[in-house]
Amino acid sequence: MNLVLSIASHAFDAALALVYPQPCAICGGSVESRHDGVACARCWNEAPLFRGDETLCWKCGALSLANVSDDKRKTIRCSRCDDDAFTAARACGLYEGALRASILELKRQPHVARRVAQLMFDVQQREPLNRADVIISVPLHHDRERERGFNQASVLARELARLVGLPFDEHSVVRRVHTERHRAGMDAKARRQSVANAFTVRHPKSIAGKRVLLIDDVFTTGATVSACATTMKDAGVTEVFVLTVARA
Ligand SMILES: [Zn+2]
Ligand SMILES: [Zn+2]
Repeated sequence: MNLVLSIASHAFDAALALVYPQPCAICGGSVESRHDGVACARCWNEAPLFRGDETLCWKCGALSLANVSDDKRKTIRCSRCDDDAFTAARACGLYEGALRASILELKRQPHVARRVAQLMFDVQQREPLNRADVIISVPLHHDRERERGFNQASVLARELARLVGLPFDEHSVVRRVHTERHRAGMDAKARRQSVANAFTVRHPKSIAGKRVLLIDDVFTTGATVSACATTMKDAGVTEVFVLTVARA
């Protein structure tokens, strides 16, 4: 984090400490702890979070209705993600309620509530994401990053790297095409094509042979993280795991 952003973040922390309790972004009730960010404890309790015992597509993390014993969970595949380049993707929960409100807030302020950071940490500790040895965030195009002032995925990645004790590589992968806003009505195939060549690896030597944990805020179709994974694997990365705060 550069110095200005670091100072801004600390100033923001101080401001947060002053304004709590604040109204919950979801129910309007009172958020008593700044660690909860924009949602109150009750809304966090009601958030559709994954607790680690759900049956998921082992690859993309989609909820599965299959009823299997624990030892068979690694065999579950939804088949929709067969072509995706990542090894496995997981999220803290569904893009609703407290997680959705937290993600929307993160687009406005470069600050990760402790509750959100802890949820990401918990998911990272589980198989198979705990096999990664370096953290990378899905890059924004630099025009877009300049417009917003920060990349929300990098803010998440930096905080997770600090908690987990893994290196955060912020510079090896860059976005060369501005594909952030998909046109309304784009289907999955059109999205995939629009993002296919969006990324490039600037420093292949620094990531070759590594197992990457790729961070983004939301997993929607998987097109973006899959394109980013393809680019990194072409550069010699052996495996790409994906962790997002939520999945749509
Ligand atoms: Zn609430
Ligand atoms: Zn799947």
